[in-house]
Amino acid sequence: MSKERVGLYPGTFDPITNGHMDIILRGLRIVDTLIVGVAVNAGKGPLFPIEDRMAMVREEVDSATDAETAKRVVVRTFDGLLIDYAKRNGVTAIVRGLRAVSDFEYEFQMASMNRKLDPSIEIAFLMASDKYHFISSRFVKEIGALGGDISHFVSEGVAKRLLARYAQGEKVLSGAASKAY
Ligand code: ADP
Repeated sequence: MSKERVGLYPGTFDPITNGHMDIILRGLRIVDTLIVGVAVNAGKGPLFPIEDRMAMVREEVDSATDAETAKRVVVRTFDGLLIDYAKRNGVTAIVRGLRAVSDFEYEFQMASMNRKLDPSIEIAFLMASDKYHFISSRFVKEIGALGGDISHFVSEGVAKRLLARYAQGEKVLSGAASKAY
């Protein structure tokens, strides 16, 4: 029997968007198990605590897939160096989504450096789907905070959580986005 293919999809997921979900569902076509690694120390200063970000990923995956498929998605916290985390968890490929040219430069550099650190772990880039390529968690938060309609970008459940968060008086953190990985 061939070795189980374990993918790792790391991100902040603050919150999970329809674009992230698309990458998760497509990622499942190329790996047996997909670990969604939710970054603990996201340098971006997340709006949602780690527990909420993980709960949202779980809920979204469970509602978008059947029970068998849902079992193939493992939601975990992710901390430290990406490549070390991948090694510790028996990951065969890191999965990333690529949106615009702006994603490309960062991802290309990151992938090249990670390959130097461990050439045995492959990095698979999935091109964002036409329907979702413009969606980013950051803009969803900004639009939501200003009372705009975010129903095209996130699920109903996530939209509700966002509204609840703003009702608690949370501020949206924007500005230069520094990534943790
Ligand atoms: P964001 O950049 O929106 O804050 P993350 O840091 O959580 O999101 O991103 C995790 C991964 O998901 C990255 O590889 C990113 O390029 C990808 N991604 C984010 N939004 C989309 C989207 N709309 N379509 C495809 N990939 C996406």
